[in-house]
Amino acid sequence: MRSLKAIAAVAMCALVTITSNTASAQSPVLSQSSVSTTAVTQSAASTKPLAGLVIAIDPGHQLGNGQRKFAKHINEKRFNGRIWKICNTTGTATNSGFPESTFTWRVALVLKAKLERLGATVRMTRTANSVNLWGPCTWDRGTFGKRVGARLMIQIHADGAPRSAYGFHIITPALTRGWTDGIWKRDLVLAKAMKTGLIKGGLKPSTYIKGAISIRGDQTAMNLAKVPTVTVELGNMRNPSEAARMQSAKGQSGYASALLTGIRAYLNR
Ligand SMILES: [Zn+2]
Repeated sequence: MRSLKAIAAVAMCALVTITSNTASAQSPVLSQSSVSTTAVTQSAASTKPLAGLVIAIDPGHQLGNGQRKFAKHINEKRFNGRIWKICNTTGTATNSGFPESTFTWRVALVLKAKLERLGATVRMTRTANSVNLWGPCTWDRGTFGKRVGARLMIQIHADGAPRSAYGFHIITPALTRGWTDGIWKRDLVLAKAMKTGLIKGGLKPSTYIKGAISIRGDQTAMNLAKVPTVTVELGNMRNPSEAARMQSAKGQSGYASALLTGIRAYLNR
């Protein structure tokens, strides 16, 4: 986000089969169908704890945001309750040029798969990572969660801070009268749950944002969001050790696991 300144059932089916066979052998009073229904319900609760929930993921930026041909769209400005701000930015990158948009995209895909395995329906603000695409604008990202009926939205980003700085932090909106009145307190609860989850998931809190939670009034998407939404800056792309982790598949999976732990901590599921 600092970059903004830079340019601006298989197992479940098996369990049900075994359970209904055992039960029908031991409990002739119960019809097999009622036993099966009970088994399915119990099994679904344990293996699909997020069933019935829609989770929105917003993978920050888009690979084509820096393309000159899209400059007119990217530089469009709107008022966000505090300041006039442009549609989006390129995001930051590692010192070797690995872009934030690609990092957030890859982590989002892993997180999406993990959430879906637990039964959630996942909706994403963008469906590709391409130099031939731009946006979406932050105002469209902000309203996305409500549009798709999401319980919450996680905006995935990475920071571009001084080389020695490292660790994650979470951005949550300040109270902006007429804009975030109904949501900022719930966002803060989500931010705290995400912080707990990310630490539990093995990530280090920021060395440069006190308490690893930053309350800001200038963030367009969160000022417009109507469901709990936070931005997670997973680390500093300019720190060599975090950059290496962000570029590896194992590292990306680790970030996604930590985000999942945070989401589950908030949902208490
Ligand atoms: Zn960003």
